[in-house]
Amino acid sequence: MRGVVLHAPGDVRVEDLPEPTVDEPTDAIIRLAAACVCGSDLWPYRGADKLSRPRPMGHEYVGVVEQIGDQVRAIKVGDFVVGSFFASDNTCEICRAGYQTNCVHRSNPGPAQAQLMRVPLADGTLVATPGRPDADLIPSLLAASDVLGTGWFGAVAAEAGPGKTVAVVGDGAVGLLAVLAARELGAERIIAMSRHADRQALAREFGATDIVEERGDAGAAKIKELTGGLGAHSVVEAVGTQQSMMQAIGAARPGGHVGFVGVLHDVTIAGNDIFFTHVHVHGGPAPVRRFLPDLIERIWDRRIDPGRVFDLTLPLDQAAEGYAAMDQRRAIKVLLRP
Ligand SMILES: [Zn+2]
Repeated sequence: MRGVVLHAPGDVRVEDLPEPTVDEPTDAIIRLAAACVCGSDLWPYRGADKLSRPRPMGHEYVGVVEQIGDQVRAIKVGDFVVGSFFASDNTCEICRAGYQTNCVHRSNPGPAQAQLMRVPLADGTLVATPGRPDADLIPSLLAASDVLGTGWFGAVAAEAGPGKTVAVVGDGAVGLLAVLAARELGAERIIAMSRHADRQALAREFGATDIVEERGDAGAAKIKELTGGLGAHSVVEAVGTQQSMMQAIGAARPGGHVGFVGVLHDVTIAGNDIFFTHVHVHGGPAPVRRFLPDLIERIWDRRIDPGRVFDLTLPLDQAAEGYAAMDQRRAIKVLLRP
């Protein structure tokens, strides 16, 4: 089968790889209907994460189950499924509390930028759709696998809801879908922080009521200005840098909540930044599995269209161009057709 391998920063190749097999009785093998490039894939692509050996890539997926192990009960061959980027049993105490990405049996599915992939703990990780989706629903279901689920968790962690003003730091796919999540959760006012006209337009389509172009301290000051000097009730941080994290904390009002879902790189939060501000800070790798049944239903019923974040579709064999387009911000998010 064909699959994407990152050999060195900037060196993406599509190669023949061995087909995955059922190694554990709880595994499933999926034939991918679509895959995509994640913002987090750009960290090793840019050399910010060290590669010790060539790395097969991809962790967002939808597809049809081809094979299952003897102990898989909830998922059947032929099901169309959506899964999360970490495998989880969905039964341990941590999973039942809603933190499946820290499951005591957590492991890695995939790699998913390929034609076939292995998913461990299939019953706990995968959710089957009600039937075979129409082709136009596939991008949205793929978004649920990571960027929508992650934006959703950011909004939930920031306690977005009715009557709240929500600010979103970051205009990548996760930030844009955090805007959509905040709207779905009933937020009264949603401030998207972006300097790019095309992303601002999509943010407005997803429910943003205000756009702020300033960044860093100036961005936080602008949010305070727009909220009567108080700051936002809820701030979603969807970048993961020192500047964006401080911008998020600085934009929140005393007692407000920051939900941070950008993968942090060399970020330090000083005690005083949270002690004297009374800001709640909660985040991490999104427990997408917690939200999947609800997200799939909203997509299936065509109440939300998160697949709009995919603005470039390429055959899997052109994955290198997909990485370059996202790296250079020519594309928000790239869908790969296996
Ligand atoms: Zn678990």
